[in-house]
Amino acid sequence: MQQHELELYADLIVKIGINVQPGQGVSIGAELGHAEFVRVLVASAYKAGAKYVRLTWNDDPSSKARFLHSQPEYLEYLPAYEVATAHTMLDEGWARISLTGSEFPDIFDDVDPALMRKSRVARSKQLGFYMKAMMANQVQWCVAAVPTLAWAHKVFPALPADEALARLWDMVLMTVRADQPDPIAAWQQHDKNLHHIIELMAQHQVRGVHFFDPTLVDGKPSTDLTVGLTDAPQWVAASSVSQNGVRFLPNMPTEEIFTTPHNARVDGYVRTSKPGFPFEREIRNAYFKFENGIVTDYHAEVGQDVLAQLFEINGARQLGEVALVDVRSPINQSGLIFYDTLFDENAVCHIAFGRAYPEGIVGAHEMSDEALAAFGLNNSDAHEDLMIGTNTMYVTGLCDDGTTVPVMRDGQFVIA
Ligand code: ZN
Ligand code: ZN
Repeated sequence: MQQHELELYADLIVKIGINVQPGQGVSIGAELGHAEFVRVLVASAYKAGAKYVRLTWNDDPSSKARFLHSQPEYLEYLPAYEVATAHTMLDEGWARISLTGSEFPDIFDDVDPALMRKSRVARSKQLGFYMKAMMANQVQWCVAAVPTLAWAHKVFPALPADEALARLWDMVLMTVRADQPDPIAAWQQHDKNLHHIIELMAQHQVRGVHFFDPTLVDGKPSTDLTVGLTDAPQWVAASSVSQNGVRFLPNMPTEEIFTTPHNARVDGYVRTSKPGFPFEREIRNAYFKFENGIVTDYHAEVGQDVLAQLFEINGARQLGEVALVDVRSPINQSGLIFYDTLFDENAVCHIAFGRAYPEGIVGAHEMSDEALAAFGLNNSDAHEDLMIGTNTMYVTGLCDDGTTVPVMRDGQFVIA
């Protein structure tokens, strides 16, 4: 990768991803394998006026060593300074950049998912306030990806290592529009297009979405799912405004419009259309049946045990997100499976099990946790996206006045 391309990408993350404000602290979470890019990113953040940049390095083999060799009861331990640091970052309004792009895909395949759940839930109990603040956009945050050799090999298994890495970088830079002559103008246009669809959803007062895919599986349509929304649904896309008033892009790339379902208003059944990776473990060809918002039956060709662990987590049997993505999205058009949620979830429509984004409810910032719960907001310790969109999917909006509006046909937006 050319230095100027890395700088351009870093500047995009800093300037329109988190849109760092002068004097603001920035926290960056990355893999050791992202180091070269992280150094460029840190420089970009300081040039843009960051007051201080904090790095947290993740190393999956070290995490795995803990799961394999630690006493199980220690897996719930988290040093108090981690909690204090999170408080400081929130109190001082630090922005957050999370870099994805695994150096060691599949490394956790032979780790007991029950141990991973235990540690995840304990961490979430202690640091949940930080996760919640991010999901409520208290400050700007951005998730972006950095290619690694191992990740590139997963996506392009037939190519030599260097070529695979170069191809993946090209894909990443293309999907974040860094290949455009004016990337910032390209983002503004993309943001406008997605916000236009949101406006139409609001105009039609869409209160629920019906997913229907007539493709027959075992003699019946593959998906027939009604996702009821809350009583004050707010669709969200591309850029958001943080509670401190700064416009930012939570995900780069992003192609979705999403909202918060009511966690008791989901009925019917749905099939996944691409692999998903809760606990870094693969789930493939899964089927879920919902009654009154709750999964009452499920099976998966791959990852049944992973789903069983996921559904042990409070609230994980209910939805926390429903998202619409046009199958013409550049990520889907690439025909690739990225094995990374940031990309795969932006290929096609998806649902997420677990915690919901309060942003999907109008006026959520002024509401108490109790009020949000009464709106049907899922407060789970998990949030796992699974792809359900296909190029034969129909999505119909169920409007407040009892009428319907076609939203997608054959996986493409048609709402007008
Ligand atoms: Zn989503
Ligand atoms: Zn999600």
